[in-house]
Amino acid sequence: MIQFAKSVDLRSRKSMTDYLRSHFRYNTMNSWNRSQSYACNLKIDRLGLTCEMIDKLYDMMETQEFFDIQEKMLDEFSADHEYRWQAHMNGRSGGYLVLYQGELIPSEYQSFCTVCGQRNYTSVRNTGNICGRCQKPARKDYTSPPMQIVTYPGKGLDEEDDYETWELYELRERVRLVQEFDRLADRMVKTAVNLAQNWTVEEEEILVPQTQKILVPITG
Ligand SMILES: [Zn+2]
Repeated sequence: MIQFAKSVDLRSRKSMTDYLRSHFRYNTMNSWNRSQSYACNLKIDRLGLTCEMIDKLYDMMETQEFFDIQEKMLDEFSADHEYRWQAHMNGRSGGYLVLYQGELIPSEYQSFCTVCGQRNYTSVRNTGNICGRCQKPARKDYTSPPMQIVTYPGKGLDEEDDYETWELYELRERVRLVQEFDRLADRMVKTAVNLAQNWTVEEEEILVPQTQKILVPITG
């Protein structure tokens, strides 16, 4: 299994610059927009796993749970950084873990329904407390607006490659961040392998409600 995390000498400008400069990078949006950022290639067949494990992981990827677990790990990383730094998957089949920039900003919501949870852009003061969805008189104004996560996918990171002009503390801070990002990649691979070793994918039949038209005699 390949390992993404690397040790870097945080006292050495060269060690830190080499690490950042040689780190794998990937597009933050697509190949037309040329923005890039630090990334890890998590394509299953590039992780140094056995063929058996690779097959098993492809099976796992057909379940929603697999992606829910990965998504939770990505969000933990982003939440730890107050969403100023965020980890998301990118690439046609989502095989690349990419470091993004973003922030938490107050949303435009002014009120919410205490019964069904529907959020509303208007204040109870202006539109009354009846909920538009459940019709209950249960809307309330927020005391402070709920926060909203924003991601800047068009913003590349450290594209100037001008590390020589950085202060040492700036280099250290960036190296620590990217190392943490690498450790996230390692945890994601490890978690996927653990899942594959301890769980198996089975098929389950679900009943999907369908609408069809029928003829009904006219009465009365
Ligand atoms: Zn409601």
